[in-house]
Amino acid sequence: MSGAEIEKKTAALVRPAVAVMQGYIPGEQPGGRKVVKLNTNENPYAPSASVREAIATAAGSLQLYPDPTAASLRQVAGELWGVDPAGIVAGNGSDELLTLLMRAVVEPGQGVAYPTPTYSLYDTLVEIQGAEAVRVAYPDTWELPRALDTVAAKLFLICNPNAPSATAIAQARIEELLAARPDALIVVDEAYGDFAEASALSLVRRYPNLLVLRTLSKSYSLAGLRVGLAMTTPELARQLHKVRDTYNLSAVAQAGAIAALRDQPSFLANRARIVATRERLTADLRARGFEVPESAANFVLARRPGKSLEGLMLGLRDKGVLVRFFAGLPDAIRITVGTDAEIDALLSALG
Ligand code: PMP
Repeated sequence: MSGAEIEKKTAALVRPAVAVMQGYIPGEQPGGRKVVKLNTNENPYAPSASVREAIATAAGSLQLYPDPTAASLRQVAGELWGVDPAGIVAGNGSDELLTLLMRAVVEPGQGVAYPTPTYSLYDTLVEIQGAEAVRVAYPDTWELPRALDTVAAKLFLICNPNAPSATAIAQARIEELLAARPDALIVVDEAYGDFAEASALSLVRRYPNLLVLRTLSKSYSLAGLRVGLAMTTPELARQLHKVRDTYNLSAVAQAGAIAALRDQPSFLANRARIVATRERLTADLRARGFEVPESAANFVLARRPGKSLEGLMLGLRDKGVLVRFFAGLPDAIRITVGTDAEIDALLSALG
């Protein structure tokens, strides 16, 4: 059989919705190559000693299954963020929680609405589920488009602060959407929420149709550990637990996450450093003529309206600096806020 025939026969083995998909394309991971890595919004600062100690201790008991409900982690997270631990679901990264939500909430053919451009994984998850993507374009101001409030959708995915724009939507506007759509679940993806001024977490008690997603991948320096948290009502959390893998969060991940949330001094110090570097980077890019929307995240979007920045991205790559380019937003590059030294390297490479 030829390669093409095998390809065709194999495609027939999976669901048509899967066979036609391209699949999510993650940002480049350089492997052993030494680069300045500003392309996937990781934290440039390593986890603290207390986190590494907790992980080492947990590694001593790996013959046992982990706590299936991550009760201690949910307790610590609930205290920190002022939500009922019974309304928290822990996931293997917030990406897993997004998958779980899609599975629990959306029937094939139903609408999943989101303003665009946004986190491109939403498109992939909608395709896997055989659901209908309802995309409403952001205006130039990056305010949440009014047209979104009335679309046919069962689930809304609001990335706030948004990726890749780094911009924040006013909380009052999120409340308007929550009030307008009691028939739908509104998910506010706050992967970058710790770098912003405001959060929808305080609204969880008031709106039964709200779920807020947080991750430890960005502000808590734990992208490699894979820990995300969904915060909602205890009633919805109970429904979500039904569709979750029993032991979705490893013992090592639970232990590391608890230690990281408890180590607030490290978190606060790293966040302060990142926010200070972000402000310097924004000012410098603007001085060089880039349009940079006000960032409420640990990355910035640098634009040259009407001009493709793919060449710039490739040029930086040749100089060992990775930034993210999106074919759907060709006049922009997205730059993660690294250490001051990394940002100096970027700025000098930009020349
Ligand atoms: N939401 C957004 C907007 C993101 O950018 C990311 C990271 N790529 C995630 C969720 C997923 O984060 P994680 O699975 O690492 O928790």
